[in-house]
Amino acid sequence: MLCKIDKTGRIVIEEDAFAEGIMDVAPVIKVLTGSDIIADAPMSSHTSFRVGGPADAMLLPTCADEIIRALAVCRQANIPVTIIGNGTNLVVRDGGIRGLVIKIGSGMSKISFCGCRVTAQAGARLMTVAADACNVHNLSGLAFAGGLPGSVGGAVAMNAGAYGSEMKDIVKKIRYIYPEALSVFERTVSECDFGYRRSIFLDKGYIVIEAEFELMKDDGLEKQRMEDYLVSRRKKQPVTFPCAGSVFKRPQGHYAGALIEQAGMKGVSVGGAQVSELHAGFIVNTGGATAKDITSLIELIQKRVFEKSGVMLCPEVRIIGEEQ
Ligand SMILES: Cc1cc2nc3c(=O)[nH]c(=O)nc-3n(C[C@H](O)[C@H](O)[C@H](O)COP(=O)(O)OP(=O)(O)OC[C@H]3O[C@@H](n4cnc5c(N)ncnc54)[C@H](O)[C@@H]3O)c2cc1C
Repeated sequence: MLCKIDKTGRIVIEEDAFAEGIMDVAPVIKVLTGSDIIADAPMSSHTSFRVGGPADAMLLPTCADEIIRALAVCRQANIPVTIIGNGTNLVVRDGGIRGLVIKIGSGMSKISFCGCRVTAQAGARLMTVAADACNVHNLSGLAFAGGLPGSVGGAVAMNAGAYGSEMKDIVKKIRYIYPEALSVFERTVSECDFGYRRSIFLDKGYIVIEAEFELMKDDGLEKQRMEDYLVSRRKKQPVTFPCAGSVFKRPQGHYAGALIEQAGMKGVSVGGAQVSELHAGFIVNTGGATAKDITSLIELIQKRVFEKSGVMLCPEVRIIGEEQ
C-alpha cells in the first residue's frame, strides 16, 4: 500500500512512492492541499536566465496559509520543497527540480503605504515598490532598487543591494514562515543577521511573506537619483539579454568583473552562455544556452581567474536542481 490514513486521520504516503516514480507528485499535492498545482512546470519560464528543466509541481500561492498547508502535506509525504521568488538570481539545472516549487509572486503582491512606512508582500516586485515610493508617495530610500528585478521576498533573503545601499538599510520588520513550526513569526532588522548577499532567511530556509520598510520624506532629489541609477544600469549592464545579474560575489579588495576581464575571459562562450562583452561580471544567455553551458562557464571562469590572480570567485547566483 502506498497511501493510507492513520489512526489520527492523517494521510501517510510511503517514502519510496515518489522516489521510485510510482506516484506523480503534482496530482497528489493537488488533492491533499486543494490548491491549483501546475505539473511539470518548465523552470526556463520562471527564471531570468531562461534555462532549467521542469519542476515536478509548482504552487503559485495567494496567502501564507496556502504555503503552510503545502509545507505540511509535503512534509507528511516526504516531498522536497523549493522556494523561489522572481527567479532572477537562479540557475536551475537542466534536469529540473524534484518535488514542489513554491513560487511567491503576483498572488501575494499587495503593497500599502502609511506615512514613511511601506508594507509589501513577498511576491511584490521590488522595482514596483521602489517606483511607487518615489513617484507616487514622494519617499526616498529605495532609489537603489529601481532596476532590481527580484521580488521583495527574494531581495530580503539575498539582502540585495546596489549603489552603496542594501535591503537591510530600509527593512524594519519581516514576517516569515518557520517551516519546522508551520507558523508565521516576525523579526526586526537586528534579528535578521543580514550580511553581504545573505540573511537568516536564506541560511535557515525561513520563508519571507511580508516586509515592512521605513523610508524618508523625499529630499527633492530622489527621482533624479533613481533615473541616474537606471541610466547607469542600461549603459553598463547587458540588461537586454537573459541573465541573472552579477554571477559572482565581490571578493574582498577586488571587483569580480575586473578580475574576469584581466583573466582574458570577456566575451568567452561555452555553448549559448557567454561572458558579457559589456560587463565581465555578467554571464548572458545569447540564445539556446543550457544550464550546463552556464555552470561550465562559471567553473571555467573560476579556474582562469584563480590561475591569473589567486582569487577564488564565489557564485552569487544560486545553482539549484538536478543534472540531466
Ligand atoms: C539584470 C539583473 C540585474 C540585477 N542586479 C542586481 C543588483 O544590482 N543587486 C543585487 O543584489 N542583485 C541583482 N540581481 C539579482 C537578483 O535580482 C536579486 O538577487 C534579487 O533580490 C533576487 O530576487 P528573486 O525574487 O528573483 O529571487 P530568486 O532568484 O527567485 O531566489 C533567490 C534566492 O532567494 C530565495 N528566496 C526567494 N524568495 C524567497 C522568499 N520569499 N523567502 C525566502 N527565500 C526566498 C530563493 O530560495 C533563492 O535562494 C540582478 C538580476 C538581474 C537579472
